[in-house]
Amino acid sequence: MSEFSLELNEDQLQVIKWVHEFSENVVRPAGREWDEREETPWPIIKEAAEIGLYSFDFVANCFADSTGQLLPAVNEELSWGDAGIALAIFGSTLGLAGIVANGTPEQVGEWAPQCFGTADDVKLAAFCVSEADAGSDVSQLKTKATYAQATDTWTLNGTKTWITNGGIADVHVVVASVDADLGSRGQASFVVPPGTPGISQGQKFKKMGIRASHTAEVVLEDVKVPGSCLLGGKERIDERIARARAGKSAKGQAAMATFEASRPTVAAQAVGIARAAYEYSLDYAKERHTFGKAIIEHQSIAFRLADMKTRIDAARLLYQRAAWMGMNGKPYVSGEGSMSKLFAGETAVWVTEQAIQILGGYGYVRDYPVEQWHRDSKIYTIFEGTSEIQRLIIARAISGVHVR
Ligand SMILES: Cc1cc2nc3c(=O)[nH]c(=O)nc-3n(C[C@H](O)[C@H](O)[C@H](O)COP(=O)(O)OP(=O)(O)OC[C@H]3O[C@@H](n4cnc5c(N)ncnc54)[C@H](O)[C@@H]3O)c2cc1C
Repeated sequence: MSEFSLELNEDQLQVIKWVHEFSENVVRPAGREWDEREETPWPIIKEAAEIGLYSFDFVANCFADSTGQLLPAVNEELSWGDAGIALAIFGSTLGLAGIVANGTPEQVGEWAPQCFGTADDVKLAAFCVSEADAGSDVSQLKTKATYAQATDTWTLNGTKTWITNGGIADVHVVVASVDADLGSRGQASFVVPPGTPGISQGQKFKKMGIRASHTAEVVLEDVKVPGSCLLGGKERIDERIARARAGKSAKGQAAMATFEASRPTVAAQAVGIARAAYEYSLDYAKERHTFGKAIIEHQSIAFRLADMKTRIDAARLLYQRAAWMGMNGKPYVSGEGSMSKLFAGETAVWVTEQAIQILGGYGYVRDYPVEQWHRDSKIYTIFEGTSEIQRLIIARAISGVHVR
């Protein structure tokens, strides 16, 4: 018998079913309310924590799945319910990814559980890279980290923007410049522990979609953290900077390592939104009649649905491949992580727009969910690297040319 299989195993299917039930019974019904309120859905996060879905143990279990499929699959299920609430629940995972991608085993052991807290005392994490003048171009970060050897302390100064869970998180992972001349090769990640003086929330943004997810500026004013909060340790960053200064290639840039690891999961969230819109519009097309027949009997509607399903399945296969490669240490030689995020993001925007078209006027009003799915989908061509940046990464990988 062939070893190749695209089938998920029983354990994976059971977990996915469990997450789907929560998504269908709790997340989907609450989606519209929290979209309108534009606030963090604390009661839903707490409910997720009570059943063990919002917990470090659950995420660790997903990370332990050697096929790499579980984490993206559960992200797809939760986003199928509501993308904003899903991000409120899984936003902490990006902070966690920043710790796992750059930290030592001891640092991961110390900080990873604190990103989630416990069911009785829920905590959040944030990953803070972007700044007003450094979104796509992270080499331009102005946030500085300065080291005082006498006290073994780092001092962070700067303003981060567009940060998911920014200011309301307990654990902030901050990427800062240690050696500005070296651009992204001179950057490092720091954990800012809960209650550290000098870190505060700036402006909270009012968004087009994923409005249950909190997005805000994070202001860092003389934030002092101990040397142990530099992820990976001082020796490693010193060595990396020395290599970069000597003109040698420096591996493991702080922000990029995190984004590479999280792209298939972000792609899966986009697939979840697209699937929700596809399923809804398929049902609708069978019920709605014009000119004496169900609209699905009009070929233009039926073919549209066929294309929607085809693209969704293609997007899922791309994220499954990237997740498998990532988990099994296969390098993204053709930018496979970026391919998954690029295609899933653009598919979600396209599919949700088709869904609006299938519903006609009903697709455009808030009494029906499809307009929200379209609003929610758009962020997937923007955050974690815009579609253009994904194309840049793929183009560089396949050509070996430093396309800019
Ligand atoms: C809701 C939300 C949540 C977010 N969450 C986080 C978070 O938790 N942590 C975090 O650090 N950041 C976060 N971000 C920031 C996000 O990652 C950035 O917005 C994104 O990377 C784009 O940066 P920018 O907005 O500065 O756009 P810019 O970099 O200014 O880009 C503007 C346009 O130019 C294009 N462009 C730029 N450079 C090139 C190029 N070389 N070639 C071709 N086109 C190019 C871009 O694709 C885009 O279309 C979030 C953003 C939003 C909106």
